[in-house]
Amino acid sequence: MQKTLLSILAAAWLCAAQAQTDNMDQFIEDLLSKMTLEEKVGQMNQYNGFWEATGPAPSDGNAKRKYEDLRNGRVGSVLNVRGVEEVRAMQKLVVEESRLGIPLIFASDIIHGYKTLAPIPLAEAASWDLKAIEASARMAATEASATGVSWTFAPMMDISRDARWGRVMEGGGEDTYLGSAIAAARIRGFQGEDLSANNTIMACAKHFAGYGFAQSGLDYYTADIGTATLHNTVLPPFRAAVEAGVGSFMNGFNLLNGQPVTGSSYLQRDLLKGEWGFEGVVVSDWASIAEMEEHGYSEDLKAAAKQAVTAGSDIDMESYAYINHLQDLVESGAVSESLVDDAVRRILRAKYKLGLFEDPYRYCNEEREEALLYNEAHQEAVLDMAKKSIVLLKNEGNLLPLKKEGLKITLIGQLANDKTSPLGSWRIGSDDGTAVSVLEGLSAYEGNEVTFAEGPKLWANEPTFVTPVDVNTTDRTGMAEAIETAQNADVVIMVLGEHGFMSGEARSRTDISLPGLQQELLEKVYENNPNVVLVLNNGRPLTIPWAAERIPAIVEAWQLGSQTGHAVAQVLYGDYNPSGKLPMTFPRNLGQVPIHYNMHNTGRPNTKGDVFYTHYIDSPLSPLFPFGYGLSYTTFAYDNLRTNLRGQSVEVTVKLTNTGDRAGEEVVQLYIRDRAASVVRPTKELKGFEKLMLQPGESRTVAFRLTPQELGFYMPDGQFVTEPGTFDIMVGPNSSDLLQTTIEWK
Ligand code: BGC
Repeated sequence: MQKTLLSILAAAWLCAAQAQTDNMDQFIEDLLSKMTLEEKVGQMNQYNGFWEATGPAPSDGNAKRKYEDLRNGRVGSVLNVRGVEEVRAMQKLVVEESRLGIPLIFASDIIHGYKTLAPIPLAEAASWDLKAIEASARMAATEASATGVSWTFAPMMDISRDARWGRVMEGGGEDTYLGSAIAAARIRGFQGEDLSANNTIMACAKHFAGYGFAQSGLDYYTADIGTATLHNTVLPPFRAAVEAGVGSFMNGFNLLNGQPVTGSSYLQRDLLKGEWGFEGVVVSDWASIAEMEEHGYSEDLKAAAKQAVTAGSDIDMESYAYINHLQDLVESGAVSESLVDDAVRRILRAKYKLGLFEDPYRYCNEEREEALLYNEAHQEAVLDMAKKSIVLLKNEGNLLPLKKEGLKITLIGQLANDKTSPLGSWRIGSDDGTAVSVLEGLSAYEGNEVTFAEGPKLWANEPTFVTPVDVNTTDRTGMAEAIETAQNADVVIMVLGEHGFMSGEARSRTDISLPGLQQELLEKVYENNPNVVLVLNNGRPLTIPWAAERIPAIVEAWQLGSQTGHAVAQVLYGDYNPSGKLPMTFPRNLGQVPIHYNMHNTGRPNTKGDVFYTHYIDSPLSPLFPFGYGLSYTTFAYDNLRTNLRGQSVEVTVKLTNTGDRAGEEVVQLYIRDRAASVVRPTKELKGFEKLMLQPGESRTVAFRLTPQELGFYMPDGQFVTEPGTFDIMVGPNSSDLLQTTIEWK
């Protein structure tokens, strides 16, 4: 009886779901049949926001052209239009004046928040806390959607092992397993359960693919990736994104093995839309279709349009390639109209799912905008995320946590008193100067005396997203004062690193040490007072071997967003016990870059006793701080690593004990190595992790399950296989410090 009822309910549900899909498809086919070729091409055209839609219509130049294109149904989506009023005005123009009134989608780079800023994505990755990361994306979606935006160009899921590349700040770090999990969490956060709700936005998996492997860390540059790395390292996060239901993909600027990815049919048609069954929309990167000409791939813009549409790029962002040439290409028979129809169906589907046909102004609600932006709940949320993102790299000599009373503290560094840099790069809706500075955060604790000395400036101009940081390398004003002030302190807190605009797009560096005069400042202060706590602000791993050897306490605080200062202060004072772990390896020196934990063995390990083994003659091979590394104010012990073969899976258990005198969180990490495989596997690969809180003295058994999915790998042709054999199973607090056992997999 009960069974019958359940199946009736299930059938009814299925029916309803089916009806909905049928409706959508029917709706889209009807609409498509009414569209002229020009209107179809228009849907595939995306412009950057260009004039104030609430103001008078532009009367000349490019803005006028774009405006006319909008009115004539020759634009399908726009990016960078800010605020409900503007969005509503532009939407109104299109809906009321274009022939078919197909609503626009409003897109933006919502990378780590809108007005309220969470930590930069690399910092969030250091939390290894998927729920928190999902919640952070949720918060960003809530604010962005309240301003009229319904599509974010995030998350960036490019795996990168090269800290010179400025965009590592925007991703989930160097590891594919962690990166895939984080990408999926962000997508869930942005898109929620129901994309048509007015507080969720469509996510975009970018940049497809290989952009993070730009040679020499040079942004926009070429990537040459063999099949082993392509299938096993670069592509899995994108597959995970499809599985997580991401609504859109973005291609990229880079060449991949000699071909611009924007023109790659293999990536976009064969793999993404073919094998992976992706039904969403693919947008080009900014002008990346036009750039194919610059690359030397397309003869001219018209050829680029043909190549891009053939390859499966559905939307042209700011190349003017489709809007100028696609109609011609179809009419002359050079491009089949069915390719255009396929792209337009995808775009209309996205609009349908976002609920824009039902209500084009669905995301335009001044009351929500007023109530949600920068509200208190969001400040609390980003403070929480910021604390979780901090990584304690070193803590010797009991400097940390700081005593709450009776200390004379000297705080040094221009970054310590700055309210813009901590916001980090990529911020669409935030205002400069709105972060809580470290000075403000420390000052909220009143028991100690805090004296601030700026030291020599790190930057002397006012950097912005488009104004590069002018790093000061000559003016030592402030050096003497900082040293003198430090002499009388019990503890010196130095906030050093990079300005928030020294990483991000087009911010590659050839030297990833402390920029400007900061190393000199650090050494001089330390000579005068060795009780230094170094707080790092940076958007990438830095080479700090001198500091790592001498400075007793080092705290990695990245760029932590709106609540930076409070997060740093609460960690320094021990009101939050740090729990972050590095999502990227910190190299000792630039020569080691690209460096990552999951390297392969050479045939010449350091065991042979002669000089011809794998090494540098001037540097150890090991990193300064390994992937997965991070300390706590308490200590943890690992023992009892056990494995248990259960049918098609392996259960791995380990006992974790909090051996210190404080409650603390630990990220237990599981790595494997397949000892002999057809595609040689790295010496370690992360295949599981769990973050858990333990009280002092408490022990817990942590269990993982390895399935063929974790034990297998991709062959050169992209086929996934699992091979029998011996596997090392390793568990521990970071990628270098692991208990190990082996299993035989049959
Ligand atoms: C970036 C993309 C971004 C786009 C739109 C490009 O320069 O590479 O990641 O989404 O601009 O702002």
